[in-house]
Amino acid sequence: MSLRFSAIKDLNKSPESDFALKPSTKITAIFGENVFTLKTAREYLSDEAFKSLAASIRSGKKIDRALANQIANGIRGWAESKGVTHYTHWFQPLTGTTAEKHDSFFTLKGDGTAIEEFDGAALIQQEPDASSFPSGGLRATFEARGYTAWDPSSPAFIMEIGNGLTLCIPTIFVAYTGHSLDYKAPLLKALASIDKAAVDVCHYFDRNVTKVTPTLGWEQEYFVIDEGLANARPDLVLCDRTVFGASPAKGQQLEDHYFGSIPERVYSFMRDFETESYKLGIPLRTRHNEVAPCQFECAPIYEEVNLAVDHNTLLMDIMARVAKRHRLKVLLHEKPFAGINGSGKHNNWSLATDTGVNLLAPGKTPKTNLMFLTFFVNTIKAVHDYADLMRASIASAANDFRLGANEAPPAIISVFIGEYLTKVLNEVEGRVGEKFDEQDEAILKLDLHRSIPELLLDNTDRNRTSPFAFTGNKFEFRAVGSSANCANAMTVLNTVMAETLKTFKKDVDGLIEKGERREVALMHTIQRYIVESKRVLFEGDGYSEEWAQEAEKRGLANVKTTPLALDAMITDKAKAIFERNGVYAHDELEARHEIELEKYIKKVQIEARVMGEIATNFVLPTVIEYQNTIITNIKGLKEVGLGDESFRNQKIVLERLCSLVNTLSDDVRNMIEARKVCNNMTDTREKAIAYCDEVKEKYFDKIRYNLDKLEMLVPDEKWTLPKYREMLFLR
Ligand code: ADP
Ligand code: MG
Repeated sequence: MSLRFSAIKDLNKSPESDFALKPSTKITAIFGENVFTLKTAREYLSDEAFKSLAASIRSGKKIDRALANQIANGIRGWAESKGVTHYTHWFQPLTGTTAEKHDSFFTLKGDGTAIEEFDGAALIQQEPDASSFPSGGLRATFEARGYTAWDPSSPAFIMEIGNGLTLCIPTIFVAYTGHSLDYKAPLLKALASIDKAAVDVCHYFDRNVTKVTPTLGWEQEYFVIDEGLANARPDLVLCDRTVFGASPAKGQQLEDHYFGSIPERVYSFMRDFETESYKLGIPLRTRHNEVAPCQFECAPIYEEVNLAVDHNTLLMDIMARVAKRHRLKVLLHEKPFAGINGSGKHNNWSLATDTGVNLLAPGKTPKTNLMFLTFFVNTIKAVHDYADLMRASIASAANDFRLGANEAPPAIISVFIGEYLTKVLNEVEGRVGEKFDEQDEAILKLDLHRSIPELLLDNTDRNRTSPFAFTGNKFEFRAVGSSANCANAMTVLNTVMAETLKTFKKDVDGLIEKGERREVALMHTIQRYIVESKRVLFEGDGYSEEWAQEAEKRGLANVKTTPLALDAMITDKAKAIFERNGVYAHDELEARHEIELEKYIKKVQIEARVMGEIATNFVLPTVIEYQNTIITNIKGLKEVGLGDESFRNQKIVLERLCSLVNTLSDDVRNMIEARKVCNNMTDTREKAIAYCDEVKEKYFDKIRYNLDKLEMLVPDEKWTLPKYREMLFLR
């Protein structure tokens, strides 16, 4: 029996009995129980060590070496009280997954005595074998080693894998030369830069602000399908995406899945991974069905960006692991099924002050309104000025299948702000040149506070087709892909915002020096920024063809493929802004650019190989067998003396099969040749472009078309690979 049919047969052997849901426990009873929070630290650390740790967390600085042993001992004491035997530095290399190397506390003293130990050095810094992680040539040209270093702003936690418990220390990963090799190190630098820039601007309004922390609430979309069925598809096993599959008779056209009840098997999986997440302090809040069959979403309460990024990365790991227990497979890919909606990861982003103010929430008084307007308009200006970097930050082979596919924002970066704020900006802009003698009144007139009901209406009635939308008290970067590490998008967004705020401050100070009153200087600069960045604002249907045309008229870029979108990373403009904000040195950008291109090449290469394999080793033999059955049938009909008319239909099918198989085989052979040409290219960028144009664009759709046609012709019982209707509708 083929894997397909045994998987279908096993579907009802539900693993549920093993995972019978426990009676509901209160979330608060388990929340954060596996996290070394400050509250836990208070119990396990001396006053001195606790103070030092708390200070490091606040300032984002490394912990004091002198106290590291004490802190490490405290963490070990806590971990051992929970039965932990091993620890690992946990980091986020550029491969896109997380990495760990487990060591045990167990060690032997010189005289052979066995003890458990975890010293400060092991807590603060480790040297994993870094050679297998991508470095874009950075390590090759300098020194081969890299190290991981604890980032105390993200707390240590205990990961439960099976019966094993491991203490995880969240770290950054850097080369000995100081070059960052992961997603986290640059993110922390960008956060430091925006903190400073935003605090400086806040001081126009409130001298009490000493820290600004960007916040992030991600919404994770994903598909869940039966693991047995997934295992029977080589494309899902190797690419997390189906490279072919005929559309089922029923797709998502009824939209009956959206906000419908969650299937029981999936529900049990959700509760299981939520429980694990709560223990790790991930504040998940919502879960629901998405538009496509088998598609779901979960979202947490927002947190500071750094922690939110770790939590999202952790969650993606947890989901994959917990799904296995339920014999399910989670697909985080941006486009697992053609013709069905893809998955994104909306990044809700805002800025919070240490005085408890959300800088992107319209204020109550004229002064706070002006502060809101300042940060609001600066965000628009930042996205306008650096749209190319925003686009590059979300570029990946997988996201290319989703962006602009009439279900996700297009590759054009624009900003949606809603009807009410559009009116407000128009009004502010209309006052250009006006003397602001009665500026207090002018600003009062904006009366954003009393208009909050209108803002909320805008928010509920919001435009779902925009890649970057204002939703009442935060911006939502929607073009981020579901499998992406949010750090990339967040590093860029916070850097471009930091840069824009710094320029803004210079501009305002310039006017003040010329003798303008502060409010007037602020207002004039805001006005100018509105005028300069207006063309990035778009309220209409982002999926429409008219918008693509309109955007072109406005001179907005529409870069559809990853290899070209990545060009923005290494322009002089990009190098300058990342260097000025202390986020990336030039060679780090070059290296990252190279790594992203290589990732792209590998992804397309693997998919191309899988397509070839499916065509040659799975589909072709089945088709030939079917052809033989038809031939035997025709011969038999002839033998018993029936004329041509009796096998007219069989002949049509046979001819169709021959023609499809010929085209398919030719395409596969030609695609292999095209790959060879690409593989001989030495320039990574050219190679990526060639893989995109000459392999993916030229052959993927064609090959898929023929495979899908064959799927619909060959007898169902002979087809060995699970079909869309089975993966999407059987549970
Ligand atoms: P939606 O209708 O998109 O689900 P929600 O208000 O539920 O809108 O928010 C979606 C996400 O935005 C959640 O993760 C939420 O925590 C987050 N969010 C809300 N306020 C902020 C903020 N100030 N900064 C960052 N994220 C936020
Ligand atoms: Mg949302």
